[in-house]
Amino acid sequence: NIAPEPRYFGAGRDLYGRRKDGTKFPVEIGLNPITNGKEKLVLASVIDITDRKKQESIIRQQLIQLQVKNQEMEQFNYIASHDLQEPLRTVSNYIMLLEEDYPEQVNGEVQEHLETINAAVRRMSLLVRSLLDFGRLGRNKKLTYVNTQDIVNDVTADLNKLIGSSSAKIKVEGSLPLIAAYQIELRQLFQNLVNNAIKFRKADTAPEIVLGCRRLHNCYEFYVKDNGIGINEKFTEKIFHIFQRLHKEHEYEGHGLGLAYCRKIVELHGGKIWVESTPGIGSTFKFTIAFLEDESTGKLHYAG
Ligand code: ADP
Repeated sequence: NIAPEPRYFGAGRDLYGRRKDGTKFPVEIGLNPITNGKEKLVLASVIDITDRKKQESIIRQQLIQLQVKNQEMEQFNYIASHDLQEPLRTVSNYIMLLEEDYPEQVNGEVQEHLETINAAVRRMSLLVRSLLDFGRLGRNKKLTYVNTQDIVNDVTADLNKLIGSSSAKIKVEGSLPLIAAYQIELRQLFQNLVNNAIKFRKADTAPEIVLGCRRLHNCYEFYVKDNGIGINEKFTEKIFHIFQRLHKEHEYEGHGLGLAYCRKIVELHGGKIWVESTPGIGSTFKFTIAFLEDESTGKLHYAG
C-alpha cells in the first residue's frame, strides 16, 4: 500500500483475544502507519474491550425494555381513547333518555343533579382525550430549521384576542435565533408559556411579557418573563407534572396540562425547563434547547 491509512480491524465483526489460560475476550485491533525519518513503521494496538461490550449489552437490554414500555403506553392510549370513552358515552346517553322520557320527574333538584353528572362526564371525557394527546405528543415530530422569531410572531397573532382583551404587551429582548428543532412542538411550547403568562396576570395589572434567548456552549436558553401573580417556591417543581395546578377552575380556567406539555416538548429537544418566581411580582420560565445540528456535517440529528 503506497498511501497507508489508519483503520480498525474487523469493523462490523467481533474479534477475540485468547488469554494464556485459554479464555477468550473481545478485542479491538488497530494498525497505524507512522513514519520515523525515512522508515515506515506500523503501530499495532490491541485493546481489551470487555467493559465496553458489557456496557453495550446493558444499553441494548435497556433499549428493549424501553420498546416494551412504549408498546404498553400505546396499548394504554388505545384503552384510554376507546374503552374509557365508551362508558362515558353510555352515561351521557342515559341522562339524555331520562330527560326525554321522564320530563315530569326530571325537574328541579333532579335536573340539577343530572346536569352535574353531565358536566363531570364531559370533564372526564376531556381529560381522557388530553391524556391521549399527551401520549401522542411528538410522535410525528419533524426536525427542521425554525426561526424562533417567526414562532413568536405566529403565537402573538394566534393569541391576538387574549392580548387585546387583557391589554398585554409582549416584547422581545435582543434577537431570537434560527435553530434546529421540532417546529410544531416548539410553537406549542411558546404558545403555552405566553398564554400562561397572560392568564396568570394580577387582577389590576396589564401583563408585560418579555422573551429572550442566549446562546450557551451546548444549548440555547430561552426565557419568558411575566409580571403576573408569581408562584410559591414550594410548587415550582409540581406545576410541570400532568394534571397539577395551583388554582381552582373557577379562578383560572385550565386542566393542568400546559406545563406538562412544555416539559415533554423541551425534553424532546434534549433540554430542561424550570421557573424562577417571586409571588406577587412575577415569574420567569426558562428552558434550554440542545444544539441538534451536527456542526461538522451540518446534518440534523436527534441529540436526545
Ligand atoms: P393550567 O394552566 O391548565 O392550570 P399549566 O400546566 O399550564 O396548567 O400550569 C400549572 C399551574 O402552574 C397553573 O395552574 C398555575 O398555578 C401555575 N402557573 C403556570 N404558569 C404560570 C405563570 N406564568 N404565573 C403564575 N403561575 C403559573
